[in-house]
Amino acid sequence: MPERGIFAAGTVMPVSAPPIPDGALLVEAGKISAVGPLEEIRRENPGVPVRNFAGSTIVPGAVNAHAHLGFRTKDAPPGGTFSGWLTKLIERLPEKEVWTAEAARDSAREAVEAGTTLMAESSPYGECLPQLAESGMAGTVFAEFFPGDYDGAEPGEVVEAIIVRVRAMNEGLPDRVHARVSVHSPYTVDPESSRIAARRTREMGWTLAYHLSESPEEVEFVREGTGGLADIFGSNAWGGVGVSPVRYAEGIELLAPETIAAHLATGVGEEEIEILARSGVAVAHCPRSNENLGCGVSPVPEMMRSGVRVGMGTDGLWSSPSMNLFEETMAAVRLHGFDGATGLRLATLEGARVLGAEHETGSLEPGKWADFAVVEDAPDGSDPELAMLEAAADGGVAATVAGGDVIYNRAYS
Ligand SMILES: [Zn+2]
Repeated sequence: MPERGIFAAGTVMPVSAPPIPDGALLVEAGKISAVGPLEEIRRENPGVPVRNFAGSTIVPGAVNAHAHLGFRTKDAPPGGTFSGWLTKLIERLPEKEVWTAEAARDSAREAVEAGTTLMAESSPYGECLPQLAESGMAGTVFAEFFPGDYDGAEPGEVVEAIIVRVRAMNEGLPDRVHARVSVHSPYTVDPESSRIAARRTREMGWTLAYHLSESPEEVEFVREGTGGLADIFGSNAWGGVGVSPVRYAEGIELLAPETIAAHLATGVGEEEIEILARSGVAVAHCPRSNENLGCGVSPVPEMMRSGVRVGMGTDGLWSSPSMNLFEETMAAVRLHGFDGATGLRLATLEGARVLGAEHETGSLEPGKWADFAVVEDAPDGSDPELAMLEAAADGGVAATVAGGDVIYNRAYS
């Protein structure tokens, strides 16, 4: 990538501003320094090389606010119910070790080829960090820890151990790739370890990933201490507290602006939405995974109306059919009746807000990283954003650029 370059297309959709016909971006040292009509940008920057994706649309890169890289489609456990699926997943963890790294590389590649430039990935002890780091995407790998793995240790010791490990993981990474901590879920991490992890990571200014209120079984576990999840873990030691998962999470101080809670697919009523809005927690919406695992429909429009930050997540290939965030977004558009502009915002700028990265990426504005996707087929019809999303969902991404680097280029190599 030359130090300065102009990227042009039939349409540029900045998201933060109306679409620009025959638009262009001026990119310098990986960042956007101007956005406008190609003619104007070229006139003001004579001699700067132009890469013209005529007949295509440039949009901000997709932001995947909740993903798992270490899975593959071909031998996914059957869906249907969450606890049935999770039982199979746990059974197969030992055999999966052999191919996790390869699956992570393939999943990351698939995401890049679908226009993704920023990803929040969660994996056990951050095992997929190498593959995210080498993918060219920016992002964060959230290391899930399981207190049961630390024989007899106190919650505080367990949390300190994972923090030390994650600090070390941050050494030597690309500038825009980070490792952080994830409290996996209300049913896998005890309340005291969860509370300490949330407090300690917040003190360090770290974001935190959490699975929350995903399945009917989780609601039953937290409320009653019974059901499929209590059976799997052979314990209901801290379940059965008589409240919803969201109330429980609030009680253990998990809900804060730094927390990215994935799913919120079931057990989320008016009271829960009020708690989410008040706490400032951000939400990753994974509608295809939720449908596949019998988890219900997340009340996304209601959360958005209450001011909750919501972005999109694909989850991983054992619960979801693809790593294509635009395809995930089309599922949300159909499910909730959104227009194309809302869908495009969810896939990009809203995802960046969820990850606390809205000042760096998520829209095409001067000062932000040059993170964008080139989608074939000029938009047409009454909803150009929707036509663009449909094309991107359907394999229409021809190139992906992250921090000014072309990390995927199908058509113009
Ligand atoms: Zn997940």
